[in-house]
Amino acid sequence: MTTVTERLRADRPVFSVEFMPPRDEADERRLWRAVRELEGLDPAFVSVTYGAGGSSRDRTIRTTGRIATETTMVPMAHLTAVDHSVTELRNVIGWYAAHGIRNILALRGDPPGDPNGTWVQHPQGLNYAEELVTLIRDLGDFCVGVAAFPYGHPSAESPERDIDFLLRKFAAGADFAIAQLFFEAEDFLRFRDLVAARGCDNLVIPGIMPLTTPKMLAKTVELSGAQLPAGLAARLQPLVDDPKAFRAEGIDVITETSERLLAEGVTDLHFYTFNQSRATREVVNRLGLVPARA
Ligand code: FAD
Repeated sequence: MTTVTERLRADRPVFSVEFMPPRDEADERRLWRAVRELEGLDPAFVSVTYGAGGSSRDRTIRTTGRIATETTMVPMAHLTAVDHSVTELRNVIGWYAAHGIRNILALRGDPPGDPNGTWVQHPQGLNYAEELVTLIRDLGDFCVGVAAFPYGHPSAESPERDIDFLLRKFAAGADFAIAQLFFEAEDFLRFRDLVAARGCDNLVIPGIMPLTTPKMLAKTVELSGAQLPAGLAARLQPLVDDPKAFRAEGIDVITETSERLLAEGVTDLHFYTFNQSRATREVVNRLGLVPARA
């Protein structure tokens, strides 16, 4: 099966998408509708997030397997160290290998229950994503991605220190990183340049979420760990009671941010879809990013 890095070697920019494991049957139908709607646009790869608990994890594994066997797309499975012994992690990685899934996003994960709580290592488990990268690399010929944080990870001593650990993940064998949400193209570009200035040429891919609703805007504030910049607040906040106008402005904002990233040489935009395809399709069409295979 093709690797993510092979798919990103195109001589022109591409996009990729993230899905979440479906929670129930209705969600599963929604997810597969989005998968099929995006398949025709040929995303470079499709990632599936890894949940905090047992059944959602099974759904991640099943969904990634179905994408591998029932679609033409290249899947990437997320995997976290949360509540897993090394033996369990080996089993999941082995299952992926057996199903031909060669791309894994190696994450530590958040403390269960409270993402801002104190991290507790499983007694027979791993402490940092770096160790998971090493484990995956030891187990087979995988293409491994890791997380990166343009404003620094919330629990990091400092953004600079967080970059030290990102570099350690690359040194352990990670091929590329996907960045957490950010607000302005310059925030990502500054981070990308800081990483490059440390002598690292691994690809860092920006994570993009179409700002279609006030809820998505709030989610971006929460995940990025940053304040909403005044310029964006002035554009979006007056529209919170007008869903149509908010959506139109939010799509404009994300299109403009993406255009700026592409103009600065970014080669892949990774869209967080929340299992809906419409906004992503709209933005990638406006950017002229489809189809990647043509
Ligand atoms: P790490 O790289 O291990 O870093 C965790 C913290 O420890 C950071 O503060 C870092 O600075 C510090 N650190 C790292 N290495 C060391 C070291 N060697 N010594 C000392 N300190 C160190 N969560 C999920 O549960 N499921 C998902 O599917 C998921 N997908 C994600 C996808 C993306 C693109 C991103 C950006 C995040 C995702 N997350 C997901 C969230 C992620 O699991 C959390 O943000 C988690 O808190 C950090 O994970 P990490 O892999 O960056 O951890």
